[in-house]
Amino acid sequence: MSGVIDEVLRPADLAQALALLAEGGGRRRPIAGGTDLLVQAKEPGAPPRGLVDLWGLDELRGITAEPDRIVVGANTTMTEVLASELLRAEARCLWDGCYEAGSVQIRNRATLGGNAANASPAADSVLGLIALGAEARIASVRGERRLPVEELATAPRRTALAPDELILAFSFPRAGGRSAFARLGQRRAQAISKVSCAIHAQLDDQGCVQAARVAFGAVAPRVVRSPGAEAALRGHSLTDPSARAAAAVAARADTAPIDDLRSTRAYRSEMVGVLLTRLLVRLAGEA
Ligand SMILES: Cc1cc2nc3c(=O)[nH]c(=O)nc-3n(C[C@H](O)[C@H](O)[C@H](O)COP(=O)(O)OP(=O)(O)OC[C@H]3O[C@@H](n4cnc5c(N)ncnc54)[C@H](O)[C@@H]3O)c2cc1C
Repeated sequence: MSGVIDEVLRPADLAQALALLAEGGGRRRPIAGGTDLLVQAKEPGAPPRGLVDLWGLDELRGITAEPDRIVVGANTTMTEVLASELLRAEARCLWDGCYEAGSVQIRNRATLGGNAANASPAADSVLGLIALGAEARIASVRGERRLPVEELATAPRRTALAPDELILAFSFPRAGGRSAFARLGQRRAQAISKVSCAIHAQLDDQGCVQAARVAFGAVAPRVVRSPGAEAALRGHSLTDPSARAAAAVAARADTAPIDDLRSTRAYRSEMVGVLLTRLLVRLAGEA
């Protein structure tokens, strides 16, 4: 039998939303766009639950440029990301991830908070957030805390969030540099990624990589960084073929793809290197 939604609560503000979650004792779940949660609620064996509807909470919306950081509210939809010239210019890997995700209808409802809290290893906006060094701002009735986005998901559909905690926003430094995202799916639209990659690189005056953050999706139980690829790129030009090759090898070693209905382990492992190389070519301005 599929699960039952037996109450839908619409808090007037953030404080009330946090109180409703705390009172729910783990039985109530936050819902934002509903594009994951309402699908999962129909799964056989899904427990009955109450929902705390976040959609109307203005405190969770908005894209703000601070002097040193950009803050993106958890309720920000992928469509709103795509409408932001600021994010297109300064957070291209996040923008590209939202551009590639779902369909217009899904992107109109899909929020960044929901994408991250759903903890899919293929969550397209999460790679960009990790590559940008984003932290999640998290709140409950007990107070606020911050967590690097790469530590938010612990396993498929499992997070480090307590049942009464909400993601308020994501925040990342305005570090400059170049970034990009690419993914492979069965089709260009409405297909979950088989493999995805995001990179953010800061270059010195000679065009050498000072620092890089590389994230992969759908090739581990959660979105993961590749410390080996990041180290292989450091100090080298983006056009250096041996650095590109070393980064691709290291990235394969840092990921652990599986066989499933969407793809095979061997194909995914091969494409980890291919996607990273394609992004390095793009960042170098060669494509
Ligand atoms: C047809 C279809 C195609 C899709 N294609 C893609 C795709 O290409 N790429 C991709 O990445 N995803 C895809 N998705 C998945 C989904 O659309 C995204 O994960 C989306 O971003 C989820 O956001 P939401 O607001 O709808 O989350 P919801 O369904 O409302 O919630 C998802 C989870 O997050 C929790 N949650 C929501 N907001 C918060 C918050 N502020 N704090 C704490 N927890 C919170 C909920 O409790 C729930 O566990 C697709 C889904 C469908 C149905």
